[in-house]
Amino acid sequence: MFSAARLQRLRRVLKWLLMMVVDSHLDLAWNALSWNRDLNRSVPEIRSSEAGMAGQGRAMNTVAFPEMRQGEVAVCLATLLARASGLNEPLLDYRTREIACAMAKGQLAYYRVMEAQGILRMLRDWPSVESHLGEWKERRGDSAIIGFILSMEGADPILSPNSVTEWWDQGLRVVGLAHFGVSAYAHGTGCQGRLTGRGRDLLRAMQEVGMILDVTHLSDASFWEAVELFSGPILASHNNCRALVPGDRQLSDEQIRYLIGRGSVIGAVSDAWMLYPEWVAGETPRTVVTLGVVADHIDRICQLAGNALHSAIGSDLDGGYGAEQCPCDLDTIADLQKIPNLLRKKGYKEKDIEAILHGNWLRFFQNAWSHPARQHATLGA
Ligand SMILES: [Zn+2]
Repeated sequence: MFSAARLQRLRRVLKWLLMMVVDSHLDLAWNALSWNRDLNRSVPEIRSSEAGMAGQGRAMNTVAFPEMRQGEVAVCLATLLARASGLNEPLLDYRTREIACAMAKGQLAYYRVMEAQGILRMLRDWPSVESHLGEWKERRGDSAIIGFILSMEGADPILSPNSVTEWWDQGLRVVGLAHFGVSAYAHGTGCQGRLTGRGRDLLRAMQEVGMILDVTHLSDASFWEAVELFSGPILASHNNCRALVPGDRQLSDEQIRYLIGRGSVIGAVSDAWMLYPEWVAGETPRTVVTLGVVADHIDRICQLAGNALHSAIGSDLDGGYGAEQCPCDLDTIADLQKIPNLLRKKGYKEKDIEAILHGNWLRFFQNAWSHPARQHATLGA
């Protein structure tokens, strides 16, 4: 038997064996507000509170603040997610964009409450990331504050290009133009088509203020039109590779090569339907997918780049499903810590693994936020 003091020492040593994670896609506030989840409770507590509830992902969640701390998630991109696509999907679609806007503002209010309680910390610029990481390294573990960069998945809540500045002032830094279906601005996953006229105007407004464009979920035609029009920083927050899993939700090699050329970073997703071709929700057993497949998608991007500077983690683990649709060796977000070993087995060096787990995102935001447009916007704010 270990004494309490020895156990404590052991925990401290183990902590240093873990690797800092930056996860570029979590729908935290959507889970809190639309799924009514108290993210301060542990994953097992949330699961037991949902026992007997109907609906995919209920009682099977994998993300909560305690497990994010255990998994050394120091920073994430946390979304605002509310759309008016007309698809009428419960918890996601609203009849008007005005309602979607109010829902997104409610989600922002949740992040603010968590921030006031010292649980989350909004990161709006590079100095705030630097000071956050300094403190996180001191406190890492159970008492660590989780940093977040505010992003929007589908831009319907931005009522017009004129309101981009207002959203910037509220802390929004990354915007994806569409989610599934058609938004006011672009065609998204599952449909084909270009940007709308308003979409082109929105991109101009985003560029002016220094907002980052997230190309995840754009249809191919919207993707190519957006990247041509937009000269600011571009990222793909949660995308896998079409060469491994066919379908418009994944990026083609041509798109990946283009993003690499633009200095982008692409976050690898842990959602099984983006990892296993022909995945059928509720039918395919999760044993067909392991975290090793996530490592395969990471590896493909690194092979296309010829380096490990453009691939990262964008888990999407709370994106409307639970453990039933995750790799079978992942129970909670803390299991992202298994990825370093999988990359070691593929021959990746420590420096490259650190880049994939956190370094690439940190470099990307440091570069993006030294963009002159942002400095101008901050001075003017
Ligand atoms: Zn998504």
